[in-house]
Amino acid sequence: MNIRSFIEQHFPPCCLLCEAAEGPLCPACLVDLPWLAEQRCPVCALPTSGRETCGHCLKERPAFSSTQALFAYGFPVDRLIQQLKYKEQLALAPLLGSLLAQNLENELPDLWLPMPLHPNRIKERGFNQAVEIARELSAKTGIPMHASWATRERDTPSQAGLKREARRKNMRGAFKCDHKVAGLHVGIVDDVMTTGSTLDALAAALKHAGAKEVSCLIVARA
Ligand SMILES: [Zn+2]
Ligand SMILES: [Zn+2]
Repeated sequence: MNIRSFIEQHFPPCCLLCEAAEGPLCPACLVDLPWLAEQRCPVCALPTSGRETCGHCLKERPAFSSTQALFAYGFPVDRLIQQLKYKEQLALAPLLGSLLAQNLENELPDLWLPMPLHPNRIKERGFNQAVEIARELSAKTGIPMHASWATRERDTPSQAGLKREARRKNMRGAFKCDHKVAGLHVGIVDDVMTTGSTLDALAAALKHAGAKEVSCLIVARA
């Protein structure tokens, strides 16, 4: 199914980015989004010249094995994700989940695990955007989502403004994982990846609980 017919079928009118009467994103705005090029580090999805592993990952291998990100985290994807998170534009979540499902490049995992939010954040926001995105991804791929197999134990201070090392320290011991992941390939789903330290901390906790492999599937890479 092409994107236009998919959107016409599933979503009510009104594009979030222009005046078009198709929502949550019209086909023209969807095509214009900052889709990421192929030239990326296979481990962390930072730009590299020939898809080789980047310097950061060579120096210190993260606990996850690969990352696929759909978009660059810039205008207007940043606005869309903010609208999803803070303005309850929940129709965006199934759209983003479908786009992830349609564009999968890496080996498929045994389960999808959305990035857990701390209960305080869920109370504040009312939902976890990663769960909403992963729900559609799971429906489209037929791979189960297990949102409760990892929990966020600490309400870590905001990562904004912290340097790479400080972010890593900030995240230590933030997650707890169920041992049901033992022997499985876990696909973490999240909306935004910045330095990757939160994903690294979750992946490390999953590996500690016995996961065979952890990969990341991300909507937007900062
Ligand atoms: Zn539009
Ligand atoms: Zn890398």
